[in-house]
Amino acid sequence: MAKKCQDYISDLNSYLDGELSAELCEQIEKHLGQCRNCRIVVDTMKQTVSLCRDGKAEALPAALEDKLNRVLKARWEKKFGK
Ligand SMILES: [Zn+2]
Repeated sequence: MAKKCQDYISDLNSYLDGELSAELCEQIEKHLGQCRNCRIVVDTMKQTVSLCRDGKAEALPAALEDKLNRVLKARWEKKFGK
C-alpha cells in the first residue's frame, strides 16, 4: 500500500539523521521527487537542522525536535485540510 504524505513525517527526522535503511531512504527520495509539499517540509527541516548544527555539533535538543514536529504537523494539516 502506498504511503501518504503524513506517513512520511515520522520518518523524515530519521531520514535527515541518516538513520533510515537504504530502502526507506529510497522510498522517501522517490516520494520527494514527486511531491512538492514534502520537499518543502524537508528543506525546512534541513535548514533548521543545519542552523542548529552550526552552533554545536550534536543532535537536536528533544524540546526543539518536539517543537519542530508540532510546527511541521500543523503546517501539514493546514495544507491537506486534516
Ligand atoms: Zn508528499
